[in-house]
Amino acid sequence: MFCVWKSKRSFDQLEIPYLPRNNKCEKMGAEESKAYSPVSSRTSSVRSCPGIDFPNHCRREQRAWSLLHQCTLEKWKEGHADAAGFKDTMLNCDGSIHKDCSPAFCINRQGIININKTSSIFSFRRRSKFTKMAEHFEYNHIPAQLSSVQNFHVKSVLGFRANLVVLHLVRNMATQFGLLDIKDNKFKGVFGKKSVEFNNDVVTAALSPDNCFCLIKVPYKTGSIYKHRLELYNIESKQHITMVSSYDLPGEHAHFCFDPRFSSSRIAVTNIFPDQVNSLSLVQTDNWSILATNTRVDDTRQELYPNLTDLMYTKDGTLVVAIVLDLTCHCREKKTMRNYRPVDVSVFIFNADTTSTLHCMKYKRYTCGQHLCPVNYMPIFSQSSNRIGIVANIPDIPDRHYVQVYKLPAQINLQSLCRIVILDTFNSDAVPKLPLPPKLINYLNFVPEFH
Ligand SMILES: [Zn+2]
Ligand SMILES: [Zn+2]
Repeated sequence: MFCVWKSKRSFDQLEIPYLPRNNKCEKMGAEESKAYSPVSSRTSSVRSCPGIDFPNHCRREQRAWSLLHQCTLEKWKEGHADAAGFKDTMLNCDGSIHKDCSPAFCINRQGIININKTSSIFSFRRRSKFTKMAEHFEYNHIPAQLSSVQNFHVKSVLGFRANLVVLHLVRNMATQFGLLDIKDNKFKGVFGKKSVEFNNDVVTAALSPDNCFCLIKVPYKTGSIYKHRLELYNIESKQHITMVSSYDLPGEHAHFCFDPRFSSSRIAVTNIFPDQVNSLSLVQTDNWSILATNTRVDDTRQELYPNLTDLMYTKDGTLVVAIVLDLTCHCREKKTMRNYRPVDVSVFIFNADTTSTLHCMKYKRYTCGQHLCPVNYMPIFSQSSNRIGIVANIPDIPDRHYVQVYKLPAQINLQSLCRIVILDTFNSDAVPKLPLPPKLINYLNFVPEFH
C-alpha cells in the first residue's frame, strides 16, 4: 500500500509530467511538455504528442503500478487526456446524488439537456419534486402517455450500457423498473413491479455485457420484515421482461457488476455469504454458484459497508476495482468551511479470476461521498484498459485538482498486447474504421464473442 500524495512536493513540480526514477525515459519532462501543443495540432487519427511523448516508446520499461503521467486538471482537459489515451475529462461535478446524478449516471458527463421547469408539460406535477435527471428522461424519452396518463415518474437512473438505460420508476407509490433504448428513443417496457416505493439508495441495477439480462438488487418483504435479494431479468424478449431467477442476500448491502469477458454468466459481488462483511466473490449467475472469494477486501476496516461506494471491472475484465470512501459529510457547514475538508479515497484492485488483492491506491479529494456525484472520486480507465487515472486535490487548495495516471498490469498474451498498442496509437473514433474484419474490431472495442 502506498500514498500517492506526498505533501512536500510543490505545486510547480506537480505540473511536470513525471516518470519514475531509474527509467530510461527520464529525460522527457518539463521542457518537452511545454512544446506539446494540444488537440489542434492533431491532423490525422494517429495520436501525435511530441511534447509529452506519452507514453508509447517507453511503455515496455514501465512496471505495473508505476506513475506514468501527472498534470493539472486544466491541462488534462486541454489535451493531456487525449494524449494519454483517456476519454474522460469531466472529472468534477456539482450534481447532487439521486437528484442531478446517480451512481450510474452523471448529467455532466452524459451532457443531457436541461429542461425549463416552467414548461407546461410538467404543470400537472409538483415542481419541487423535479430533478434535472428526471426532467431529462421524462421529457425526452418516456412516452407522454406513460408519464401523463399512467402517471409514471422517473426516480433515478439505475444503470446503463451501450444504448440501454434502466430507470427506477414510480407509479401509485410503488417501485417498478423501465427499460429504455436511448439511441432509437424507444421505451422498451416496464418490469419488476413492487408493492411499495423504495428509496433510490436501496435499489441498484446492472445490465449484462450482451445486453440480454438485467440484474437488480431490491428489498422484498417476507412476513413483516424486509430482506434484500438479487433478481435476474431476461430483457431480450420483446413481449414481457421476466424474472428468471433470484438470490437472497444475507444482508442489506452488496455491490455487483458483470464480468465483461462473459456474456451474462459471471458477476463480481460483495458480501454474498452470511457472516462475511468484508468479502468479494465471483458468482456464476446461471446457478448462483460461487467460484472464488476474498474474505478481506478492505484490510483497513472490519466491514465493507457503509464505506464501499462502487465496484467495477476494467474494460478488459482482468481486474475488479472497489472504491472505498471516508463518508464524513461537511455539506451542512458554511460553504467556506466545507470546502476545506478532504475525504480519503481508497481504490482496491483485485485479480478478476481469483479475487486476490493486487494493489491499493489512496488519495484525498474535497467532496462528499454521501451527497455529491460519484464522478468526483471515481477512478477512470484509458481506452486500452491498460492505465488507471485518478484525480486528487492539492492539500489546502480545494479548487486545484491534479490527475495522475498509473500503469495497470497487462495480460501476457499476444492478442491483448496488440490491442493495447493499437488502442494507444489510434483515436477511439478511428478504430471502427480500421481495415480489419468485424471480429477484430469487436475485440478492439472489448466486445467479446457471445455464444
Ligand atoms: Zn455528476
Ligand atoms: Zn454531504
